[in-house]
Amino acid sequence: MPAWYDTFIEEIAAGEGQYLACEACGESSLPPRRVCPACGSAELSRRPLPDRGTVVAFTEISVTIPKFHGETPYTVVMVEFDDDVVLSGQLREATAGDIAIGDEVVLGTEARDEGPDLVTFRPVQE
Ligand SMILES: [Zn+2]
Repeated sequence: MPAWYDTFIEEIAAGEGQYLACEACGESSLPPRRVCPACGSAELSRRPLPDRGTVVAFTEISVTIPKFHGETPYTVVMVEFDDDVVLSGQLREATAGDIAIGDEVVLGTEARDEGPDLVTFRPVQE
């Protein structure tokens, strides 16, 4: 994994996750970017990533790459934050049968024996 990913994950783990907001058109994106994907402006400012977002899609994974063998099935969720930032990660403390589109989930990270930490989400505990 490239260094930017390590930084991105470390910031989330520390509760200081960030995303990029375009000063020119308002488009949101995730690091690493030097220019806005929508308008090409280089005026990107870092904003704090909220610690919770809303599930917009999810899928249960039962066949995977070798790195995740022995962990299937697991669920990958796509989560939308304020300003239309979308991030995907593995669902924890729940399965695909427990969640629905529109559910609120909490952003987190999970350390791995090998390689960089994972982005994870878990249901909000009411
Ligand atoms: Zn832009």
